[in-house]
Amino acid sequence: MFHLRHFLLAAVLLAAVPHPAHPLTELESSQIRRFQDYLRIRTAHPTPDYAGAAAFLLPYAASLGLGTTTLHFTACKSKPLILLTWPGTDPSLPSILLNSHIDSVPAEPEHWIHPPYAAHHDPATGRVYARGAQDDKCLPIQYLEAIRGLRAAGFAPTRTIHVSLVPDEEIGGEDGHEKFVQSDEFRALNVGFMLDEGQASLTDEYRVFYADRLVWKFIVKATGAPGHGSKMFDGAAVGNLMDIIETVAGFREAQFGKVKAGKSGPGEVVSVNPVYMNAGTPSPTGFVMNMQPSEAEVGFDLRLPPTEDIEQIIRRIKEEWAPAHKNLTYELMMKGPVRDVAGRPLVTLTNESNPWWSVFEHAIISSGGKLAKPEILSSTTDARFVRQMGVPALGFSPMINTPILLHDHNEFLEDKVFLRGIEVYQHLIRALSSFKG
Ligand SMILES: [Zn+2]
Repeated sequence: MFHLRHFLLAAVLLAAVPHPAHPLTELESSQIRRFQDYLRIRTAHPTPDYAGAAAFLLPYAASLGLGTTTLHFTACKSKPLILLTWPGTDPSLPSILLNSHIDSVPAEPEHWIHPPYAAHHDPATGRVYARGAQDDKCLPIQYLEAIRGLRAAGFAPTRTIHVSLVPDEEIGGEDGHEKFVQSDEFRALNVGFMLDEGQASLTDEYRVFYADRLVWKFIVKATGAPGHGSKMFDGAAVGNLMDIIETVAGFREAQFGKVKAGKSGPGEVVSVNPVYMNAGTPSPTGFVMNMQPSEAEVGFDLRLPPTEDIEQIIRRIKEEWAPAHKNLTYELMMKGPVRDVAGRPLVTLTNESNPWWSVFEHAIISSGGKLAKPEILSSTTDARFVRQMGVPALGFSPMINTPILLHDHNEFLEDKVFLRGIEVYQHLIRALSSFKG
């Protein structure tokens, strides 16, 4: 059957810029093959094959001479957290941690031009199509291949380098990084700086993230006297709820306006979006239509830059978004850490006061790369748990000139971009692990 969608996809493919002529070297081909092999292990939720990933990663790391440890933070031991270690010449210095999550979100194969777990390498475009190609199964292969190159060049790190491969990032990290950072094993690593995943960049400038937004939720419940559907009266539950939805919508518009005007990035504003509403008196045919119910509620997803005045937002919720005098009550769910162990916002500084920032920035420049203005990530990563421990962490995935396809259909990463990322990590690992500061 002819599908317009397929025709359009084919047209897009044919229109793609022809792949550069320079053929891949034997080493580059083997690096792409390892990337494909890892992508073919189905680590998507709801049934991520963590055992399969461990069976792939552990011998791979051991073949490079790295130490391997597997930790478990669940009784059933079905969620391995893999630690790979390249000891430094001065183990007294805080170590470098390179993090990546093993799991990925599910894919809907019917919407993909190549099967999402086949890791098809398109010879015309150089694209490797797979769930996890960008988010974030490119990372461990790039970390390990960068280490291979550095070892081959005779490089010896001063600081110890650890690579962590963690479960469950995509479902909140509770049995992964959240428990890991609280463990004796994490303390023993004495981590001084962490690199975690970032996002693709549409331009030739690498993106870097110095904070994640806080993920909160709140529910507002309204109660009021019930009444006949025909009667106009003050204080009805649904009426009161509609008033505050309007108030929240006004705040939302002001925040969204800053993004639309280009004044703020999407991670730099407070987002608040209604995610459910619940009201009405059920009847066998739907809802009772001539009665105003005595209860109603609405749920909001609320995300805050960690630099936001948190007390002020809480006051706003209490006084403006759920005032008691309108018979409204609220429940605020503050998920995840809000401040670090020293009470500071969960932000990694990107100025001269943070020596790790300078080392990072100079390493990118020395690799021939350019950095975009540092951003706050509008969603979350495991980096928030590490920042909570007071350890500086940056979100960075070396993907330039690449559409942002994380969690999307037809997620892909181009071979040349992937291979260039290995070079960038060589510069980063060399610089970070040699930093004596
Ligand atoms: Zn991710």
